[in-house]
Order: sequence, then structure tokens, then C-alpha cells
Amino acid sequence: MNTEHNHPNAIFIQLTTRCNAMCINCPHPFTYRTINKKGSMNDDTWETIVQSLIKNNYKGQVGLYLHHEPLLAPKLFNKIDDINNKTNAFVVLSTNGSLLNEDIQKKLIESPPKTLHININSADKMQYENMTKLNYDSVINNTIQFIDIASKKIDIQINCPVLQNVDTDKLKKTISYNSSEYKFLRKLQRRTTKKYIC
Ligand code: SF4
Repeated sequence: MNTEHNHPNAIFIQLTTRCNAMCINCPHPFTYRTINKKGSMNDDTWETIVQSLIKNNYKGQVGLYLHHEPLLAPKLFNKIDDINNKTNAFVVLSTNGSLLNEDIQKKLIESPPKTLHININSADKMQYENMTKLNYDSVINNTIQFIDIASKKIDIQINCPVLQNVDTDKLKKTISYNSSEYKFLRKLQRRTTKKYIC
């Protein structure tokens, strides 16, 4: 809590209800297929949020993630610009990495968010693909490429939930890079009731 203004240190904004993964450790594949209609935040709502951040001089984290894949959100890069240029807050994104192609990588570097989490459930191709329904090779290649070109500009963090039978050390070795270039976080989720990571 920011005691000066009685503000939280972090807020999270769901820009869209869309996600292209089906992670077994996430309620998204169930909730957004059966309960919540897929949709995206409209411009007026976004502008109201930005004005509120300005009015309250909010200086904390704006997490553009919460049960969705932010790289699917319309006008994502305009929204990052709004936070960076109109407010005193900063942006944190959390992605599954599958859409992190060269074009998106360039746009992220130009924006940029302060921090980008890339969530990777496992370094075992079959286990990963069974868990997420995403393409393992593509996610790993995107991640390594992005660390290579962006780690001096964006704080990149690799998140791995600690799930049963997942070898988190193997993932750390797979993304074999100078450890000072990114942070590797194991989400110790057995200690909490929360099992999803983005
Ligand atoms: S954990 Fe993230 S990437 Fe996986 S289904 Fe949930 S929102 Fe999508």
C-alpha cells in the first residue's frame, strides 16, 4: 500500500477476455468458454481509467494482465504509451510468449513496458503442450530471441509455476542465458490456493 496517497502498489486491468492457451493451471479455459462472453475493453473505459490514474497521481504498477493474453488486446501498444506518457505509473505485462514474434518484439521494445513476464509451464515439450495447447518450440524460440534483443531495455522475468512433476531446473537450463539478463521466478504455488500465473 502506498501510504502517502493510500493507493495500492499494483493494479491489474483485464483488457480482453481472450486467450489463445488452455493452461491446466488456469480457470480461463473454463470461465471464458462457459460463463464470460469473449470481449475487449472499449476506448471510453480505457480513457476513464487513464484519467483516474492521472487525477490520483498513481505511481504504482499497472499490470495489463489478468486471466487473458495481453498480446491479443486491441491497441495494446497505444495503451502502454498512454501509461508511460500521460501518467506517473509504469506497465507490467505477462504473456504466454506464443505471440511474441519479431513484429511484436519490436513494438514492445519501442513502447516499452517496464517489466515483461513470460510464463512457461515446463521445459518438457510434450508436458508443456499437454498443459497449455501451445507450441513449445515457438514459445522457447520467441523467449530466447526476446531476451537477446530486449533485456537491456525491459526487465524480463521467466515465470514457471511449481506444478506436480514439473522440473523447474530444466526450464532454467533450457533458457540458458547469462542469469543477470533476466530473472527466473518459480511461483511457489503449492503454498497458496492460486494456481494460475497470468
Ligand atoms: S495461465 Fe495465462 S496463458 Fe494460460 S490460459 Fe490462463 S490466461 Fe491464458
